Amino acid sequence: MPPRPHKLLRNAEGKLDAKSLNWPMFETFAASELGEGSERARKVFTALWQKGVRSFDEVPNVARTALKKFDEAMYIPFLEPELVLKSKDGTRKFLWKLEDGYTIESVLIPDGDRVTLCVSSQVGCAMACTFCLTGDLGLKRHLKPSEIAGQPMQVGRLLDEGQRITNIVMMGMGEPLHNLDNLCTALETCLDDKALNFSHRKITVSTVGLVPKMGELAERLPVNLAVSLNATTEERRREIMPITKKHSLAELIQACKDFPLPSGKRITFEYVMFRGDNDTLEDAARLYEMLKDIPTKLNLIPYNENPEREIQRPDQQWVEDFREYFVERGMNCTIRTTRGLDISAACGQLGKAWAQAMDRGWLEQARAMAGMGEAPSAGA
Ligand code: SF4
Repeated sequence: MPPRPHKLLRNAEGKLDAKSLNWPMFETFAASELGEGSERARKVFTALWQKGVRSFDEVPNVARTALKKFDEAMYIPFLEPELVLKSKDGTRKFLWKLEDGYTIESVLIPDGDRVTLCVSSQVGCAMACTFCLTGDLGLKRHLKPSEIAGQPMQVGRLLDEGQRITNIVMMGMGEPLHNLDNLCTALETCLDDKALNFSHRKITVSTVGLVPKMGELAERLPVNLAVSLNATTEERRREIMPITKKHSLAELIQACKDFPLPSGKRITFEYVMFRGDNDTLEDAARLYEMLKDIPTKLNLIPYNENPEREIQRPDQQWVEDFREYFVERGMNCTIRTTRGLDISAACGQLGKAWAQAMDRGWLEQARAMAGMGEAPSAGA
């Protein structure tokens, strides 16, 4: 069976979304629907992703008659950059408008030689984690492959001279494994040397614990896994992360033990710390016991306080002492520095502020809120 696009991804004119096809799908479509061979299809595919062409006319070294066939059957989608906010610490938040009017965000986090892009996978999220503002939105819809891979592609074209994205983390709006098919198609394009050409070592997919999908991800793509834990007992995790009612903490930890990790790779466990709640010495002991038999990188994330939640951030010294518990026992444990707080780009803050601003005539307010909006550059 030839690979096929898994969804009908057509615009109002009935044309197919050219960037929602990975290379095998694109090559098959070109051959079966357009009668075009692999070499021409490759030139078109590469021009879409590496040159950022906006129309098929712009594809170099392909006969016009062939390009006309592509143009009659397909369209080239772009995310519309509504706003780019720059934090004092260099973090940049990109707000994109989608074809149907929804908005999503990507966050760029430069840190020395490492430039990480935090990418969204859904509009809103169905997982309803109680501490997360994106969860308040509910799930509006899954992103198409072109909308997922389009984020690193378009941000890459907006960067400063000499800067390039080195890492992709699927930790923006949404639960990536809830949109697994589209995620995999998009990441195949990110990994493809005819397209965005990222190394699989530089791509991390984060999940709250959709256990059956974790194995499926491992079978389909050799990317890194991150698991968002945030509690050390079944009871507390069920309260703050409702997915635990479906897939228990014990089941999740077992799935991590069974996860086929290549040698030298670790699973990143994210642990958002809430003061006086999940940051006690008993929590540290339970967390260590839970993870000690898994190749682990434990990432502690002090909660980002915001007016919408009464949850408090632990003191810095407390966080450092908590980390010490794991380090003393030989576990790789880091504290994530909070970035982009002044532009609400921190973990769990995506989407909500914008959704509220939208209700009130959002763009002007959003710019005023940040006091630092800059007009999006053309040609993203
Ligand atoms: S933390 Fe992640 S999975 Fe949970 S509601 Fe927020 S975006 Fe969704």
